[in-house]
Amino acid sequence: MKNIEYFKLQAKNLFRDYKTQHTSDNHEDGTPLYSYDPKYFNIDEIIYDFNNGYEGEENFTLMKLQHIIAQMAGCKNWVELIKLPEDKLAYAKRTLDDTLAIYRLEEFPTEEEYFAQKKIEIEFNKKSYEEVIAISTNNNELHVMLECLHCGEQFLSNETKLVKIKGQPDNMAEEVCKHWPECDGRSYDLIPAGHNNYKGDNNEK
Ligand SMILES: [Zn+2]
Repeated sequence: MKNIEYFKLQAKNLFRDYKTQHTSDNHEDGTPLYSYDPKYFNIDEIIYDFNNGYEGEENFTLMKLQHIIAQMAGCKNWVELIKLPEDKLAYAKRTLDDTLAIYRLEEFPTEEEYFAQKKIEIEFNKKSYEEVIAISTNNNELHVMLECLHCGEQFLSNETKLVKIKGQPDNMAEEVCKHWPECDGRSYDLIPAGHNNYKGDNNEK
């Protein structure tokens, strides 16, 4: 999609959201209070922020929404935007994306969605890992009991494994769960098993 087509599409999407406008109630002074059932963006907040309030809210045109899109992209108006050379347009597109992200309707991912996403990422990573190169050799350290957040198993810190990405030097290896590769627990998934106890101790006066 050419950049300018992208801007046109976003303006259209805003306009679609705008057209869900309906009267829900009246302001204290009796003027109508409008509500929206947007599909793409929090159109109500966009109007408030980029129209400097709700004045004229009932008379928006596609041109008005294009104007707002141009402003979100860091331009004075739509004409200035569409006259930008292709490279500056690409920069304006990133600016627009950053601004629109603030008004996105998506909820934060649920815990399930978050972990599903994380699992995909780890599966992907695992494929590029070589077999275990060593049982961890943190022999100079005092061994502490660790708990893996992925499998829930507890084991000593000298029982973890070291894996590394193919082609990388051995010193780039990452410490992983004792039960790798059956468990995909990585270094940041290994917490001291006594963590909660310590926290409790700290809270005691
Ligand atoms: Zn594990």
